Amino acid sequence: MSQKINCEVHSCKFNGQENCICLLKNITVMPCKNCDSGNPDESKCGSYECKY
Ligand code: SF4
Repeated sequence: MSQKINCEVHSCKFNGQENCICLLKNITVMPCKNCDSGNPDESKCGSYECKY
């Protein structure tokens, strides 16, 4: 099964700027600390690396 990770985080060095697709084959999703919103901000990408 192939998987595609769409991502809008342009400051990450793994983000394909033109198509907004993560260049990694897999990522690790991490829970955000001290967040109990029940919304998407409960999670974050643990594979993020700043490109600057
Ligand atoms: S590693 Fe995470 S933040 Fe970076 S492009 Fe991939 S999904 Fe987005």
